[in-house]
This record gives sequence, structure tokens and C-alpha cells, in this order.
Amino acid sequence: MLNDIELADLVASGNGVTTVCRACQWRCALAPGEIGRCLVRVGADTGLTLLNHGLIAGASIGPIEDHRLWHFFPDSLALAIGGWGYATVADQGRGPYGSIPEDPTKRRRLDADRAANFALERLCRGVIWAYGEPAVNHEYVRGLLQLSRAASRYTAIATTGAMTEEALDQIGHYLDGLSLDLRGFSETSYARLGGLPDWRGVLAIAERAISRWGCHVEVTTRVHHGVNDDPEELRAMISWIKEALGEHTPWHVLPGDAGSETASSTMRARRLGHELGLHYIYGAEPNQQTRCPICHQTLITRTNGVTRLTGLTGTACTSCGHETQLHLSIFKQR
Ligand code: SF4
Repeated sequence: MLNDIELADLVASGNGVTTVCRACQWRCALAPGEIGRCLVRVGADTGLTLLNHGLIAGASIGPIEDHRLWHFFPDSLALAIGGWGYATVADQGRGPYGSIPEDPTKRRRLDADRAANFALERLCRGVIWAYGEPAVNHEYVRGLLQLSRAASRYTAIATTGAMTEEALDQIGHYLDGLSLDLRGFSETSYARLGGLPDWRGVLAIAERAISRWGCHVEVTTRVHHGVNDDPEELRAMISWIKEALGEHTPWHVLPGDAGSETASSTMRARRLGHELGLHYIYGAEPNQQTRCPICHQTLITRTNGVTRLTGLTGTACTSCGHETQLHLSIFKQR
């Protein structure tokens, strides 16, 4: 039992007491012993028991760009760390980080302060929560971000956007970057690919991360033929990215599965993104460059896993002076 769980409310009910968890948008009401949809948070007489707290599902050091943040300290190394549990129903059971290993010898524990120190010792420029959903690991993520920020590391999360606004507000001050996995732009797509109470809550999180907390946001969409590739749905998604997040927001468009039809849908989505005015659209192919949207000078090269900033003075294009809105500083930009 962790004692500082703030996103849990005890509510009197007919059978005793129920705990309402406010870490993610499901807002589960849990009787003592009842497990949440994430399968890692359990109701208790005095709050919640976190089955996943401090348990690490993965940790590695590598380029931040591995986590679809390409305009955010692009040539830097980050400690990527993550835990167990998902908030999206579609990931439960088949996602790699859905279930805590039953075998205790396969469980690894790493306290947040040691993780933050490890990033410092290994000269990582930043730390990203990259595996499993941060919302269902909220207390650990909050500690990790706070401690990493105190050590002057940048901080980021890769997320489905399932957290509540109050959860975001608890970490927003310490959060620099957010890599958003946007599964679609309709109730139907989210029913098949996500499974959240209201998919629009995902949009609200991304908008708030920018408007209230000055975070850098990049969006990734995996296109599945016949599921989320309807042109009108894609058009609405692109318009939202452009208008709510900004035309400089990078959009990573990847094939969600194998097959020529999905490959064609993915290319169509990218074309549509360009036509509707997004400046930076990336796919799955290697060695993609970043070019200035105004004069087309190369700003960033990526060659065989090595990223170089080549055409920038600060965050402006050296050729035409266009402000690219890349995030290269630990100071918040807004
Ligand atoms: S994190 Fe989400 S799914 Fe898990 S118990 Fe809390 S509200 Fe429910």
C-alpha cells in the first residue's frame, strides 16, 4: 500500500466503502479487493493498493527519437523506463506490458530516485516513461519526473492520453515532452483500437499539455486499413492536430499492420496531411530528414541511426530564419 495516493477518493457505499480512482479516464469505483480495468490497481479499505508500484517492465538507454519525439532534443540520449499496466482495453491481454509476471524472480524493482540518478550517471540528457501506460503508474511517474527535473534532465512520457486532467496537472509542471499515441478520430475507431470511456478525453489531454503546461507534443497514428483510414476521419484528425496543437506539430504516420492495402492507406494519410498544411510528417522508412517548411533547407539529418542538427541557428532555419518550434531547451517555451 502506498500512502500518498492523491488521485483516489473514498466514498461511502451500501456495502461499506468504495474507492474511486482518478488516475485514468475510467474512474473505476472499486470495493475493497476489487481490481481496476488496468489490472494493477486494487481497491482497499483505506484507498488503493498499487500492484505495479516500483516494478519496472523495461529500461534502456537510446536515442529519444526511438520514442517518436523527433523535434525534442533530437540528437540526445534518454533513459527509457516503463512499468506494467494499460488503461486502454484494446491493449489488455495482448500488449507486452499488460500483466505483471507471476514469477517473482522475473519482477524487477527500481525506485524512482535510483532511476533518476542512473540517468545522470550514464550522461543521459533526459528520461522518458516509454513502456506501459503512465496513467496507471501515476505515482511512480510523478516521482520519476520530479527527481529527473531536479537533476536537470528533460522529461517525457509516451502515452495513449488516457490520464485524467487532474493526473496531468500533478505532473505537468515537471513534464517537458509528450509522445501521443492517437489511435483514430471517431468512436468507432477507438472502440476497436483503444477502448476508453470517451476518446475525446485524449484530445483534451494533449491540448491541456500544451496550453496549460507548455509541453512539446508529437502525435503518432498507426493506420489500419478498414479501421481508421476513412478519408473524412483522417481529415478531421489532421485538422485537429493543425488547429488545436499547431501546424508545426510532428505527425508520425505508421502502418498499423502488414499488407499492401495498409501501406497504401498510410501513404494516402501522409499525402492528406501535407495537403491540409501540416509541416512535419514522418513515416516508418529509415534516414528521414527534417526540412524547413518554408525554404526546404535540411534542418536535421538522420543517417543510419545518427541524428545531426545541420541547418539551425538555435531553433530557426539558418537559410530563411523560419522559427521551427523545435524543443531544444529545458526552459518551457510557452
Ligand atoms: S488507473 Fe484507470 S483503470 Fe486503473 S483503477 Fe484507476 S481508473 Fe481504473
